Amino acid sequence: MLDAWGHVSIRHPVNPDRYLLSRARAPALVAADDIMEFDLDSNPVDQRGRRVFLERFIHGQAYRARPDVNAVVHSHSPTVIPFSVTGEPLKAISHIASFLVKEPPVWEIRDVGITQGLLVTNNTQGESLAKTLGDRPVALMRGHGNVVVAPDIKRVVHRALYTEVNARQLATALSFDRPITFVAPDEAQDPKRLDDAWEVWKTEAMQGG
Ligand SMILES: [Zn+2]
Repeated sequence: MLDAWGHVSIRHPVNPDRYLLSRARAPALVAADDIMEFDLDSNPVDQRGRRVFLERFIHGQAYRARPDVNAVVHSHSPTVIPFSVTGEPLKAISHIASFLVKEPPVWEIRDVGITQGLLVTNNTQGESLAKTLGDRPVALMRGHGNVVVAPDIKRVVHRALYTEVNARQLATALSFDRPITFVAPDEAQDPKRLDDAWEVWKTEAMQGG
């Protein structure tokens, strides 16, 4: 779900007031040397002439607002867009996406003011997005994409992937025009182990798939 524009970050493992994000580069091409360190205002700590992501404020403000969050994905996950512009709730219909029982809110950038189209380009917009996210794992960004947060990198990748998959499945279910049974809160369960899935995702990423 990370096309040429998405990004993934983690909180710094020893300094919780910093986070790690690649320089501005398509996620599929990122190498170890591209990883940069930022403070929670999203100032680069050691820029060395590297170009930084315009939308890094999404990450900094999510870490500031959520001490429980150690990994963030921002993507333009294609099938969440229809849910971000219609008011149709993106709720969990499958067990593996049951983190979506906490229904993702939709963030409206115009509530705080636009600067460059629908892109997040400053801390005021980032803070507003984090406020809309609240204590949930996912928030949709109207006409743009989503922000996904988790306690660790494996879980954030799982959530970002299955937000897209659940959106696709829900769009299919809605096309049947029949009542839908959503996953109930007492049925929701985070996967206990993600190590096997992580191995597959890592292999696919390394192969450029
Ligand atoms: Zn974006």
